[in-house]
Amino acid sequence: MRYVTFSLPNDPVARLGIVRGEAVVDVKKAAAGTWPGSCPDTLLDLIASGPDGWQRMASLLDREPSSESHRVTDVLFRAPIPRPHKNIVCLGQNYASHAREAARARDRPFKIPEAPAFFTKAPTTVNGPYDDVPWDDTVTEQLDYEAELGVIVGLKGKNIVRARALDHVFGYTVINDLSARDLQLKHLQWFKGKSLDFCCPMGPVVVTADEFGDPQAKRISLRVNGIVKQDATTAEMIFPLDVTLEFLSRGMTLEPGDIIATGTPEGVGLGRTPPEYLRDGDLVETEIEGIGTMRNRIVAVPSL
Ligand code: MG
Repeated sequence: MRYVTFSLPNDPVARLGIVRGEAVVDVKKAAAGTWPGSCPDTLLDLIASGPDGWQRMASLLDREPSSESHRVTDVLFRAPIPRPHKNIVCLGQNYASHAREAARARDRPFKIPEAPAFFTKAPTTVNGPYDDVPWDDTVTEQLDYEAELGVIVGLKGKNIVRARALDHVFGYTVINDLSARDLQLKHLQWFKGKSLDFCCPMGPVVVTADEFGDPQAKRISLRVNGIVKQDATTAEMIFPLDVTLEFLSRGMTLEPGDIIATGTPEGVGLGRTPPEYLRDGDLVETEIEGIGTMRNRIVAVPSL
């Protein structure tokens, strides 16, 4: 299943949908008549309904005619989870190629870490897959991009073992972990530099785990103004997703709807000679095989 959150040009209400070919099916309209009780109308609600709910929704929508659908060109795609219930958990330097370029840029020694570096982005960073990213140059002069595979937790778990870790995943999406490099350096801890408003475009869809397949075998790429800046595969992660979930859940409960950004490969602006940061009008396209492509334009805004 390919879940989306969308609205209509004449109605800003966010709706849960599934993409089927060139159509977006309005889940609530299609399923409400036959759903026992209150039909989920957000992706977080659906995820919280558990595997029985996911299966029920899949079989229901398979049976329903697509009369409650819109053409993909007629809807506005929002972030699949427009307002996460907690911070987005991120992995820093989870691809050796990127860890190496970051160490070089900061004139620090490089070595493969023994455990993942975790940090978070505030929920207010979330942005739509085709929305503009406002950029205030009095806040940051070093806005940078990071293409990442996003993981949506489906099942609650603590002390998850590697062998069962992927059973806890609901689905996958594309994330651009936009980062203010000057603020990362200035404030020592990464949280502030990673948490500027609208600096986490997400989408365009969440592909369920059963449909997505092996999360460590997907091409991940990013272009700025049509020029390829990042092009790698998720096979290159230092800590693959199952290992990451084992580390993260050790003594810490993961809950349905939690979002994890799994790190970025080499090619970010920070690692280039000279460094290349995003500027007004730049178009950033972030793509992962099997999910889709986000298109976000950087738009300078006046300082408030
Ligand atoms: Mg990142």
